[in-house]
Amino acid sequence: MSKTLFQKIADREITGDIVYEDDLVIAFRDIRPAAPMHALIVPRKPIPRINEAAADDQAVLGHLLLKAAHVARQLGLDKDGYRLVINNGAYAGETVPHLHVHILGGRAMSWPPG
Ligand code: 5GP
Repeated sequence: MSKTLFQKIADREITGDIVYEDDLVIAFRDIRPAAPMHALIVPRKPIPRINEAAADDQAVLGHLLLKAAHVARQLGLDKDGYRLVINNGAYAGETVPHLHVHILGGRAMSWPPG
């Protein structure tokens, strides 16, 4: 199976501005930031999207969320607040079929999303 875009960033085949990594996840700045601070955190395992996650992904999914909060603190977003977003499928605007959590901060955000 060919590598996903985010696997290529994790494997340094494509340049990424990496802000955190460990054995299970990697986080890097989004190439087209939608907020003053915009990073993505992804599992190294190429789960296509949250809808395809399985019961045995529980540990990595928990780790992914805990480390998303860690990265948000590391980027200084926790004082004013930040948003975590997972887009699943076409209606949500998913464009990269490798599960990722958006970490957005640095400005006030409205709700609901458009
Ligand atoms: P989605 O729309 O699937 O939820 O989010 C995919 C995100 O990946 C988008 O915010 C997009 O800007 C980002 N992205 C797409 N290609 C690249 C890339 O080559 N490098 C980085 N760092 N981000 C990318």
